[in-house]
Amino acid sequence: MIPPCSVKRVTRSYRYSDSSFVTSNLREGFGLALDLLVVFMEISRDHFDNFLDPPQLTWNSRLRVSAGRFIPGSRKWAQRFPARIEIAQYLLEEKNSIELIYDTLAHESIHYWLWLRRRPYGHTPEFLRKMKEMGVSRYNPVPRLRPYKYFYYCHQCQKRFPARKRLGFLACAGCCEQYSNGQYDARFKLVLEGCSVTSTESPCA
Ligand SMILES: [Zn+2]
Ligand SMILES: [Zn+2]
Repeated sequence: MIPPCSVKRVTRSYRYSDSSFVTSNLREGFGLALDLLVVFMEISRDHFDNFLDPPQLTWNSRLRVSAGRFIPGSRKWAQRFPARIEIAQYLLEEKNSIELIYDTLAHESIHYWLWLRRRPYGHTPEFLRKMKEMGVSRYNPVPRLRPYKYFYYCHQCQKRFPARKRLGFLACAGCCEQYSNGQYDARFKLVLEGCSVTSTESPCA
């Protein structure tokens, strides 16, 4: 039976002021700082008999479609191109961030563990067996915030408007208010910027 995709409850306390946290793995969010290596070593000890040497561990601020991902390295050039696990930085801002990060890193570690042993490293029956044994979630948590794909701006006031989908014929409310008695005025129609950016800044409408 496949375990539910709910997040495993982990009662651990990390010492956030520990000096070993000052590494490239360190990220802070809402007063929380966490070193992925510390979490990884714990997972390796708890579930892999300390067998796993750490891969490259990085936070990814642009990763939004999933909470984490595993990128296989080069077997021939392992020093230059090591296997890598990326964890979405937004997890630090979630309520149960420690549990989510532990769970996500544990999930990605199974991919890594299979890859190290030259096994098929997708979501195979072997993957699912190990996952069940470890009690980690079936799927990565879905991000709460979706990225803004579009940015619009108003010619008149230069204000920018992030949007998750195309806005069509919307106009700048501030300028319509100020210059057209609050009526829709095509002069202040929002113009799409020619870029696709991932951002979490809130709409400034
Ligand atoms: Zn996976
Ligand atoms: Zn405007």
